[in-house]
Amino acid sequence: MSSTTTAVEIADAVQAGTTSASDVLETHLARIAEREGDIHAFNTVTADQARKQAASIDERVAAGEDVGPLAGVPIALKDNMCTSGIATTCSSKMLEGWEPPYDATVVERLAAAGAISVGKTNLDEFAMGSSTENSAFGVTHNPLDLERVPGGSSGGSAAAVAAGFAPLAIGSDTGGSIRQPAALCGVVGVKPSYGTVSRYGLIAFASSLDQIGPFSTTVTDSALLFQTMAGHDPRDSTSIPQPAPDVMSGLDNGVAGMRVGVITELMGEGELTGFEPEVIAQTRAAADALAAAGATVDEVSVPSTIFGLSAYYQIAPAEASSNLARYDGVRYGHREDGGANTAAMMRASRTAGFGPEVKRRIMLGTYALSAGYFDAFYGKAQRVRTLIINDFAAAYENFDVLLSPTSPCVAFPIGAKSDPLTMYLNDTCTIPSNLSGQPAISVPFGTGADDLPVGVQVLAPMLGEAAMFTVARALEVAASQNTGETS
Ligand code: GLN
Repeated sequence: MSSTTTAVEIADAVQAGTTSASDVLETHLARIAEREGDIHAFNTVTADQARKQAASIDERVAAGEDVGPLAGVPIALKDNMCTSGIATTCSSKMLEGWEPPYDATVVERLAAAGAISVGKTNLDEFAMGSSTENSAFGVTHNPLDLERVPGGSSGGSAAAVAAGFAPLAIGSDTGGSIRQPAALCGVVGVKPSYGTVSRYGLIAFASSLDQIGPFSTTVTDSALLFQTMAGHDPRDSTSIPQPAPDVMSGLDNGVAGMRVGVITELMGEGELTGFEPEVIAQTRAAADALAAAGATVDEVSVPSTIFGLSAYYQIAPAEASSNLARYDGVRYGHREDGGANTAAMMRASRTAGFGPEVKRRIMLGTYALSAGYFDAFYGKAQRVRTLIINDFAAAYENFDVLLSPTSPCVAFPIGAKSDPLTMYLNDTCTIPSNLSGQPAISVPFGTGADDLPVGVQVLAPMLGEAAMFTVARALEVAASQNTGETS
């Protein structure tokens, strides 16, 4: 089996009985054994459990059962999704060794669809970061260049797919944590519309922004994975009470007649700077490719996107400071013997359990929410959020989808971005969709500096996943023609 065998191909072959889930799994476990020591995509590899699951899939296929759309497909899970009886750490000392008593809804749905979980992937602690360097358990290396970061915070999931450890992975995206690492590792990554994929069992970072979404090597695989995970879940109060949308049947419809708007503010010519020229050039080439495929392409201004980053770094830390208050050494989390009294014990537990970036966010968020500052910081950020929603709504009056780079740069060397602001600037293009709740996908499109992959982002209006995937698929076809490969 080649490293580019897709989830769709594996599921078809397993269901047809032309290959077995166990053989597929062993191929992927062998790849993990070979390269995981260099890459460190995983916090935990669950080989034994995966072998049992695969054997059971094979028995059911032999008995003539339909085992589901992801029959025998290996999948990697970001280590902030609860897995019953399997350590779930958020890459934090705070949760080291904790084994949840239940599965997240997505974990249940994937198993029910026949997927085989191979392990829990590394992340920036509590999903705070853009490089996976903030993990308490060591950095993940980009499989394309081991000296570089895979992006973050879902860097382990992106690296697992890029290394061929699994054709599919899931991550969470609060400000770009699926799309940015997908771009840096040369794979597809999707942030679905807020409310389409259940977050029950996802360990919360910033609840008004967090979404779970797919990683894969192809757009079709991400569409299939999204469709399999999506749909109403009564256990998540923010889950939209609708069935999963059909995003598969129109995938190859092409873009003829579609209106595509390139977001002026995210093309490196205005107030937002720091974009690598090759990244801008590839985004323009992607727009040209869509025009050549029959779309109407124009520039569109979404003015308030330039304030997205500032608003996000009030709202996300504010919500995080509240969500992370539960780790007090009593209800949840690591406990230190603090001596004199309860307050001292809690202080000692939180001091030892959280890493520096998490502490920084808790302090920023507590400050933004404190009496006297609330209106000036949190309140103002919420008003900016409304402006962004309104500006996107205006843009979508004239366009079906929007286009921008995913990340301003290609994968950077480990250790290169040591001050927090430089790191935060990685998410300039991805954050606006989290603030608006709308879907966005990163598709590999050519290469930039040092021959490293560039990701182009397709943004769509709320619940516009079908159009988003169709445009992404057209970009994928165009990208493969550019390099002379077949799609
Ligand atoms: N990099 C952003 C942050 O550090 C986004 C993280 C995410 O999407 N989880 O907050």
